[in-house]
Amino acid sequence: MEGYYKNPPVPKDADSIVNVSGGLECFASLWWAKENGLNPIALHLYNNPNNHPAKDAQLFYAKKQADFFGFPLVVEYSHLPAENSLALMVNMYVSACTMLLLGNTRDWKYMVWGGNSEDSLLQRLQLRYPTRAYLAEHSFQLDLHGIAAHKFMKAPLQLFPFEMLTKSEVLSMIAKNGKLWEFANKNTWYCYPSLKDRPHLVEKIKTLKVGKEIVGYEKCGECPKCKEFDNAKQTANKSYYKQQEGTFHRRKPKQEWIDE
Ligand SMILES: [Zn+2]
Repeated sequence: MEGYYKNPPVPKDADSIVNVSGGLECFASLWWAKENGLNPIALHLYNNPNNHPAKDAQLFYAKKQADFFGFPLVVEYSHLPAENSLALMVNMYVSACTMLLLGNTRDWKYMVWGGNSEDSLLQRLQLRYPTRAYLAEHSFQLDLHGIAAHKFMKAPLQLFPFEMLTKSEVLSMIAKNGKLWEFANKNTWYCYPSLKDRPHLVEKIKTLKVGKEIVGYEKCGECPKCKEFDNAKQTANKSYYKQQEGTFHRRKPKQEWIDE
């Protein structure tokens, strides 16, 4: 996938970075940024030392999602030798985000993440570091006790708009918006079988092509991440009666439900 995509320059009016893995919550983050009138760049991390097809699929759908909202996508490709495949991409995010913020002087406001209430807090704690690096560089300090107040006021903030919602609640919200769901249902990638433990499922991931052009990827349908997504859909659908009991009943919004 290395030659698949060439990075554009960072637009002069860019004000935020939305992290886009290709999954549903990251899609929701792009939507959140659009609705709030931000001018973000979408950032995707590509680190694929073992040629896992799911990594190619993630990049493919990250690009699709950024295009859907009209945001430029920037991809960080890692070329460092790695004997261990790092499942949590947060280490790479910390470096990429810091380099983008410091390497491009803009009126940076936010770094937007798709984390939900079920995600690891550890991830969130580690994500403080791009801002710390930004503050240190701009205050010419190695220790942040020396941070200048006016630099602090200008520093970008980490935002986690969905941290109070579960995966199924995020999914339910997106699914009720016809246009968003129509796209997201076809263009999010969540399948990630382990190469070590489930190589037979990795083989089930298919690249869909028309001529030489890649037009999509087919998920394995059986790995824990595929099951997690199916469960979220079921939970969202089963919430129908719970919602009727609340304010939804009074206001009677147009409820559209999800095909499983
Ligand atoms: Zn799968």
